Amino acid sequence: MNCPICEIKLKSTILHNVEVDYCSHCLGLWFEKDELRWAKDEKDKDLKWLDNDLWEDEKKFKINKEIRLCPEDRIPLYEVEYGDSKIKVDVCNICQGVWLDRGEFKHIIDYLKKKKNYEILNNYSKNIFRELTEIVSGPETLQEEVLDFLIILKLLNYKLSAQQPRIAKLISDIPK
Ligand SMILES: [Zn+2]
Ligand SMILES: [Zn+2]
Repeated sequence: MNCPICEIKLKSTILHNVEVDYCSHCLGLWFEKDELRWAKDEKDKDLKWLDNDLWEDEKKFKINKEIRLCPEDRIPLYEVEYGDSKIKVDVCNICQGVWLDRGEFKHIIDYLKKKKNYEILNNYSKNIFRELTEIVSGPETLQEEVLDFLIILKLLNYKLSAQQPRIAKLISDIPK
């Protein structure tokens, strides 16, 4: 599998029991559909921070076809933009994988920080961090952001994946 931007081979690492493919050059992340499913943690009771607007309102999705290719299927990805959040993720309509640029990572975290439920999010992060210190492996560049990573993984899993049928419909409505 190659990076959709740099076209170099993606590397694989395990973060909190989730296998993730990343580009060692641009540090973009590729999540396969099954990897997102693995991220679902039944033990998580305090997911109230997920109760924010991001990826919730189907009317706010804007979708564009891209020239970047899916690492798996080698067909163009679709850029999914949400309202005025400035957050853009790239999705594959075949394998339902999600590509996240490094910059999007930061955009998502900044977006959540602006929301009033950031306090809850922060407590949530501290709780997982306590369980986590021993479990984390992988390159240092990613380890530094492992909390942000887990938060984003949850969001992708619970919110973006939940909107997947809607996104697929919007993609099929784009004029060919
Ligand atoms: Zn890259
Ligand atoms: Zn694909």
